[in-house]
Amino acid sequence: MTLQDVRIAVIGAGVSGLATASELLAHGASDVVVLEASHPGSGSSGRSVGMVETQYVAAPDIEVRAFGRRYYDAVERDHGLSFVHGGYLRLASSAQDLESYALSVQRQQDAGVTDAVVLSPEEIVARWPHLVVADRVGGLYGPSDGYIDGHEFCTLATRLVKERGGRVLLNSRVTQAEQKAEGSWLLHTATGTVEADIVVNAGGPWAGVVGDLLGCPVPLEPQLHGALTVELGRPIAEPLPFVMDYVPGSGQTGVYFRSERPDQLIAGLHTEEPIFDAVSPDIALGRVSEAFVDELSGLLAERLNDCDDAGIGRSWTGIYPMTPDQRPIVGAHPNARTVICALGTGGNGIQLAPAVGRMAAEAALGTSDRTFSDAVDWSPNRFAAARTERV
Ligand SMILES: Cc1cc2nc3c(=O)[nH]c(=O)nc-3n(C[C@H](O)[C@H](O)[C@H](O)COP(=O)(O)OP(=O)(O)OC[C@H]3O[C@@H](n4cnc5c(N)ncnc54)[C@H](O)[C@@H]3O)c2cc1C
Repeated sequence: MTLQDVRIAVIGAGVSGLATASELLAHGASDVVVLEASHPGSGSSGRSVGMVETQYVAAPDIEVRAFGRRYYDAVERDHGLSFVHGGYLRLASSAQDLESYALSVQRQQDAGVTDAVVLSPEEIVARWPHLVVADRVGGLYGPSDGYIDGHEFCTLATRLVKERGGRVLLNSRVTQAEQKAEGSWLLHTATGTVEADIVVNAGGPWAGVVGDLLGCPVPLEPQLHGALTVELGRPIAEPLPFVMDYVPGSGQTGVYFRSERPDQLIAGLHTEEPIFDAVSPDIALGRVSEAFVDELSGLLAERLNDCDDAGIGRSWTGIYPMTPDQRPIVGAHPNARTVICALGTGGNGIQLAPAVGRMAAEAALGTSDRTFSDAVDWSPNRFAAARTERV
């Protein structure tokens, strides 16, 4: 069978599924269909705050994010995606943090990101007088990091997939899957049945459900998160970058915020650890809880000065599709080589989607040249190994 003959169905038109479909088409696949239960971006992708940044310390984390940054830069340049380069500041709580941030600057340079710097508290306040960082020891700043709109990207990516010969079927939830004797898959949806040789599970928070339908279970712990707008009352002169005050590994949430308009911030609580009870992917989404507002308001008040007129505006919730070890799951599933996982991106799925899409496409097409180093271990096999060890 040649590449032209392989029928590939991608389940889910969020950033992960659409990035995968785009990569498959770019790598020469011609029969690609995306099956979407609702509409593009209707899952977590349309509920994110869209940050795309490289301010991490571990080399593999930087490698995949630098790839993502270049990808969105190219979509901005070639297709007019709105990518607001407002900068990203990760605060440091300890001298050890600062040491690791210096290492990050070096590693980012190795990955082609040349503008990251470590700032002292004085330098931070000189740039953004509204920030209070007296209890912090500095920060890691990426001036050209920024944010996109998940919905806008999914709409644009859907158009590009179609222009490149792919199909995107909306309102087509996959409700049943069966594998024929010769190995191909029959995917039954609300709008008909699709036959495919390879199936990509890009179901976001529903990836656990989709995995079970395919007989290829994945360990997903969907976590409920939220964000809100802060109406400042008075505009602030120097737009705030995205400020992240979460301490990785702390087992707690930390506050983040950025300027959306001169008189408005977007803010939320972030963690990269699955510290909440897992929720059903079908949980009703709406506004954040009062407890969330209280916690966030308290943390914001510690980080901002001269904002006494501020009030909370609208809010929304969404799901981080998180895995037990906080790393995505990408590649052929150990139960069936024709099922490719492209899932589990937690609170980082916008910035990771380009790497997820590239890696999933390479796995689907059996490409021998791999884009990412072996240090990027997103293989589904790591959980299969854990299961075997337990038995
Ligand atoms: C409040 C909030 C803020 C965030 N901020 C950021 C951020 O700043 N930066 C960042 O990188 N990430 C952020 N994230 C995380 C990011 O949104 C997710 O990691 C990412 O959107 C996951 O994308 P996905 O394509 O895997 O899933 P989704 O976008 O959820 O897409 C999955 C799609 O699959 C479809 N589907 C499900 N089941 C089926 C089925 N059976 N048949 C057909 N279709 C199906 C769904 O309808 C959905 O459209 C944030 C998330 C939240 C909630």
